[in-house]
Amino acid sequence: MLGFEDRVAVAVSGGKDSLSLLHVLAKLERSFPKASLVAITVDEGIRGYRDEALKIAASNCRELGIEHEVVSFKELFGLTLDEVVKRLHRKRSESLTSCACCGVLRRKALNLAARKVGANKIATGHTLDDETQTILLNIFHGDVLRLAREKPVTDEVHPKLVQKIKPFCEIPEKETALYAYVRKIKFQSRPCPFASEALRNDVRAMLDKVEENRAGVKYTIFRSIERIRPALEELDKREGLTECSECGEPTSEKVCRTCQILKQMTRSA
Ligand code: SF4
Ligand code: ZN
Repeated sequence: MLGFEDRVAVAVSGGKDSLSLLHVLAKLERSFPKASLVAITVDEGIRGYRDEALKIAASNCRELGIEHEVVSFKELFGLTLDEVVKRLHRKRSESLTSCACCGVLRRKALNLAARKVGANKIATGHTLDDETQTILLNIFHGDVLRLAREKPVTDEVHPKLVQKIKPFCEIPEKETALYAYVRKIKFQSRPCPFASEALRNDVRAMLDKVEENRAGVKYTIFRSIERIRPALEELDKREGLTECSECGEPTSEKVCRTCQILKQMTRSA
C-alpha cells in the first residue's frame, strides 16, 4: 500500500479509527525520510458534533507535528450538511439520505483536498468491520458490482482521482479502539447525530451478533470477496471515466453525483 516516497494524505475525522491510523503512520513515516504525511479533515458542517472532532483532530496533529488541512462543505459546495439535511426533509426525499449525500460530498472534498496538498495517496481508517458492513450493504442495495471497485487499494483510473488505501482493512475495530486506549490517544466518541438513520447500524448489529457466536466471520466475508473480486472485475468492465460537464471532476456519468445532489438541493431551496 505504501511507497518509500509517498506523500500520504490521512483522512482524519477525529474518531478512534482515523486517529489510530494517523499515529501508526506517523510512527512508520519516521523511518522513511522521503515519505511525508498530511492530515485532512472534512468539516461537513454538523452543528454540535464536527466542531469537537475538529479540535481533537487538530490537537493530535500538533502533538505528532503533522501538517493539518481542513476543508469544509460550506466553502467547497456552498452548503453545510445541516442545510442539506433540512432541504432533504423539506423534500421528504426517500431516495437520498443524509449519509448518502454526506458520503458523496465527502469523497469529493477529500479528493480535492488531497490534490491541493500534493498527496499521491489518501489513507482512510476503514477497519475490517467497516469493510464487511460495506460488502453486505452493497448486496442489500443490489449494487454488487461496487464490490469490485471498493477495494483496499483503488485502481488509478483517472489522473484527477487520488489513489485510496485502507491500511486497517483487515484489523477489527475492537483492536483500533484498544490501540487508541493503550496509546492514550484523544478521540471523539460521540456519534454523529445523523448516524442512527443509517441502514449501516442494522448491518453492524447483525454482524456483531454473528461474530460473537462465530469468531472470524467478518474476516471470512472479507476474504471471500477478495477471492471473487477478479471475476467481479471482469463483469464490471466500465467505460473509462470522463469529466463532469459542470465541475470538471472525474465521473462515470455526464454530470457527477455531487453536482446532481447540489442541483437537487438548489431546486428545493
Ligand atoms: Fe456523514 Fe452519515 Fe457519517 Fe454522519 S454518520 S458523518 S451524516 S456519513
Ligand atoms: Zn460535477
